[in-house]
Amino acid sequence: MTFTVAIVGRANVGKSTLFNKLVGRRLALVHDTPGVTRDRREAPGSLGQLSFTVIDTAGIESGDKESLQARMAQQTMAGVEDADVCLFMFDAREGVVTADEIVAQLLRKAGKPVIAVANKCEARFNQGGEAWALGFGEPIQISAEHNIGFADLIEALAPFAEKSESDEAAEEDESNKPLRLAIVGRPNVGKSSLFNCLLGSERALTGPEAGITRDAIAVRWEAEGREILLHDTAGLRRKARVAGNTLEEMSVGSTLEAVQFADCVVVVIDALQAFEKQDLTIADLIEREGRAVVFAINKYDIVPNRAGLISKMREKLDQSLPQLAGAPMIATSATTGEGIDRLLPAVLAADKAWNTRVPTATLNRFLEQALQRHAPPAISGRRVKIRYMTQPKSRPPTFALFGNQLKALPDSYIRYLTNGLRETFHLEGAPLRLLLRGGK
Ligand code: GDP
Ligand code: GDP
Repeated sequence: MTFTVAIVGRANVGKSTLFNKLVGRRLALVHDTPGVTRDRREAPGSLGQLSFTVIDTAGIESGDKESLQARMAQQTMAGVEDADVCLFMFDAREGVVTADEIVAQLLRKAGKPVIAVANKCEARFNQGGEAWALGFGEPIQISAEHNIGFADLIEALAPFAEKSESDEAAEEDESNKPLRLAIVGRPNVGKSSLFNCLLGSERALTGPEAGITRDAIAVRWEAEGREILLHDTAGLRRKARVAGNTLEEMSVGSTLEAVQFADCVVVVIDALQAFEKQDLTIADLIEREGRAVVFAINKYDIVPNRAGLISKMREKLDQSLPQLAGAPMIATSATTGEGIDRLLPAVLAADKAWNTRVPTATLNRFLEQALQRHAPPAISGRRVKIRYMTQPKSRPPTFALFGNQLKALPDSYIRYLTNGLRETFHLEGAPLRLLLRGGK
């Protein structure tokens, strides 16, 4: 699946002409009489290296009676509904007229990313001010008929194409690949015990030794239909043989190695001495490396007062590592086996969050609502303009925000958006990235 571009505008601005250029065949009738090619058309199109689906929406007649306008609006909106991004086209020679404003209003309501396109710019363009006032930023100047300005159009559309077909094929592969898992934590929290426990319970499920194979750095088995590769550091392995030996320490180097090996990392925390400096250093390392994370709050069996333990842990985590807020936390005991059965499902969920792809249209509906609830603050009198958002990649989920003066956004606002993304799209356990892009 590629992305979808809707060309939107009043009648006669040149939508069909651009549509034909993008589609590369003269599919549409191009006609000077307003309202001639009014059926919605959709076809595969391309521009430079980009390929996408193009929708040519109905135009809205200028100076028309309400019923017709309503019908046009309906058709236009149906096209917009299916699009990842809309090209709002107007005729640069005529400037912005009432019908353009009506279209612009519809588009604002739809909450889709909009790129303003001034067409018929082969001679000159002097409608900058009016077009700015529509709120879609500086228009891209093109001439659909004379193939002018297409490079700028490519640049503006590129963010929506970052998820190319080859990326998707690669992602498809990823979901069939084994889930790489590592268990880390400071010394003595119970890493090796949990490691053995996990393998032990798997062994119990699959029969003695069945399904579990060890290689140089990992043990491999299958759980819930997914192959798991559990990173087996020298330290864990040696201790796995000499049960009860707690002298071995996981050095910073081997923690880093384990984290870099993994897609998802279980951080083992001692329930009685939770979130000490070293725990936070390790969690922070995972966050920076962009791995999915699950916390095992271990030694649950010797916790004197269990009530509210996990919520207390959550509070501590939220305070000290807000970037990992909401990450799954499982109370475990390697001694009694309590909670071990919940560990793997939590890992699979965090991995799913880590791999999440949010469609552009959904993302921009989220953005619109978030902006409505809480407008970005004005910076030295000027409002920061946020225009749209895309998700260029997952693993970890990485979002790109486009607009003007985004660098001036305060951290609190970035956090507001990040928290909103995490909650709305169930990304708990995956560190999120938010890229700020200048845009025009
Ligand atoms: P639509 O109603 O928005 O689909 O507009 P059309 O594509 O049918 O174009 C309307 C008219 O504008 C036609 O006569 C086109 O030839 C003309 N047109 C389209 N693009 C350009 C352009 O870049 N420059 C000029 N001068 N005319 C154009
Ligand atoms: P590591 O250094 O993180 O690998 O920790 P170990 O797995 O070697 O465990 C350190 C000590 O804690 C050992 O004495 C374990 O028996 C003990 N231990 C590990 N997990 C638990 C647990 O869930 N409950 C209790 N009570 N003790 C545990």
